[in-house]
Formats: sequence, structure tokens, C-alpha cells
Amino acid sequence: MRTTLTRLADGRELVYYDHDHSPPRTALDRRELPPRPAGSQLRHDPFLDAWVMVAAYRQDRTFLPSTEDCPLCPSREGRPTEIPESDYDVVVFENRFPALAGDEPTWLEPDTGPPGALPGLLGRRRSAGRCEVVCYSPRHDASLVELSPDDVGLVLAAWVDRTARLSAIPGVEQVFCFENRGSEVGVTLQHPHGQIYAYPFVTPRTSRALAAATAYHRSTGRNLYDDVLAAERAAGERVVTENGSWTAFVPHAARWPYEVHLYPNRRVADLTSLSLSEREDFPPIYLDLLSRFDRLFGLRTPYMSGWHQAPVREGREELALHLELFTIMRAAGRLKYLASSESAMDAFANDVVPEAAAERLRALGP
Ligand SMILES: [Zn+2]
Repeated sequence: MRTTLTRLADGRELVYYDHDHSPPRTALDRRELPPRPAGSQLRHDPFLDAWVMVAAYRQDRTFLPSTEDCPLCPSREGRPTEIPESDYDVVVFENRFPALAGDEPTWLEPDTGPPGALPGLLGRRRSAGRCEVVCYSPRHDASLVELSPDDVGLVLAAWVDRTARLSAIPGVEQVFCFENRGSEVGVTLQHPHGQIYAYPFVTPRTSRALAAATAYHRSTGRNLYDDVLAAERAAGERVVTENGSWTAFVPHAARWPYEVHLYPNRRVADLTSLSLSEREDFPPIYLDLLSRFDRLFGLRTPYMSGWHQAPVREGREELALHLELFTIMRAAGRLKYLASSESAMDAFANDVVPEAAAERLRALGP
């Protein structure tokens, strides 16, 4: 893999991740771009002890443009896009409309305490962190599932490199690489792409997971993720597929109609700790899972997929890297929405029994 770092006209970073045989990337961004938006905030919810990202300018972001106006396609003569080159393999750049941006998070006056203090009752910080866009392919109509294992390997290499680089930014506490696919799950650009959020805090979900894993360790002296993976592999009834390095199963208490968690068989804290063979074994099994998802309903199933990684500075001995892939589709044309119980109470009701979901996914075969 070869990486080429450049800057867009408004100063944002862009990195090409290319196969070794691809041509050099030298094009410059000659667009006239407005200055990057400033002023996004983090607000602390004192009831849940959680941060909320507030960025009003995101209301103006590009919404379902025509193929002609796609900002993620390579640039063409007379039609410059976010990617200055006329071709690319995989490319990552800073989002023009980020929910998170800036260096060290700083407290905003007057309703917060001094730096380093506990959040005030109505705590507010200037935002920090990074939001990046990852374009998987220059082909507008492609989807990750249609890429070759080599190309998915390049996407994985980009995730690994971004995790390492973003984790090194002062103030970044957690890196989340994810993809939303399908307008049903709120995708505003059809071009095959994912995103990366580098949060200046540990997310609520990860905090809860870390508390559970820590409590389990205290009471048993064992690692929760090791034990659950071993138990799922031994039971087998929820395992969808596996290879030499990875195991995919529907979790025992799945929240979504079709939800699969993909774990490396050896526990690691984050993507940067995967071995060469684990990295090589990832593309075939991930492509297999995505293909099964598409064959579930005979259409491009809308899905969400994201890497759970240990935070940068805590929980690295307790949390285990894994990918969570799920669809909100429970039957062809029927979506599960986050309604009151899920949204207001975080209490999920699942209409599909996890063992039945696993059985269906298994039966589809690779
Ligand atoms: Zn496009």
C-alpha cells in the first residue's frame, strides 16, 4: 500500500491509500471553497453523564445529490469534486460538515468550570476531534460488497492507519470507523463510502461496555469477551460463519432483526493490533457476511456496520475489537424503527429470535 497526503483548498487533509501499482497522485484542489465552519460544541448531559455533539451548520450539508454532482466521485475536467484526482483506489478526507472538529477540547465560558474540572451542571466545550469520510471505490454505483478481497484489504489498511493516526491526536479518546448504507438509514450520499469519528470523549455505549467488562473481571478474574466468544463458539447455534482468524455470530441478546458480530479469535484492543494473517483473513469473511445480508431479502439491504474499538487511553485490557453489522430491515419492505421504548428507554424489543436469524444467515451459505 502507498499513502499520499495532500490538502484540499480549505486546508482539510486528504490521504490516498493506493495499491502499489497505481499511478502517483499529484493533482491539486483548485476550487474556491468557503472557510471551514467553526463553532461546533459539545454539551454535557448531566442526567446521563454523556456528551452531545451540536453542529448547526450540518443542516446545510449535501443531501442526496444527482450522480452528476456527486462530491465523492473523482474529479473530471470542468467538474471538480472533493477528490482532486481523476482516479483513486481508496481515499480518506476530513468531512466538510463535521460533527467534531478542532484540537484540544476547551471549556466555553461562562457556565463551565476551569479546564480539567468536572463538567459543570450545564457544561459546554468547544468541540474537538475529527470526522473523516472514507471513499471505498471511485465507482459511483459500486458497493463495498462488490469490491475484490484485495480492495477490501486496502479499505482495512486505511482503517488501521486512520485508527493509529487519529488516536495520536491530542484530546482524541476513541476512534469509530463505520458505514451506513442505504437511504433508509439516513445516508445522504449514494457513493460507496464510510466515515470515521475521532471522539474527544469515550462514547456512552463504550463506557457501559467497559463497566460491564470490568465488573465481570472483578467477580471472576476472567475477561468477559474471551468467555463470551468461547461460549458462542462452543454452543455454535448462533455462529453464522468462521475462518482461521475470525468468528461471526448473532449475539445471544441481539437488538436488531439481523445483527452479526465479527470477532478476531485472538482478543486485541483495536485494529492496529491485528496480525498480518488476521488482516488477510478479514476481507473474505466480511464480503461473505455482506453478501448474505443482500441475499436475505433479495435487494441491497440497508445496513449499519461499525468497529467497536477500545478507547485510546482506558479499557484496553478489558474491551475486545469487534465489528457490529446489522440491518433495520425485519422483512422485505418492513423496517424496524427506533420507537419510544428503544429511543427513550434504550430498551429494545426484537421481533426475530436470534437463533432463527443465525439459522437463516447460515442457510444462505457463502
Ligand atoms: Zn460518486
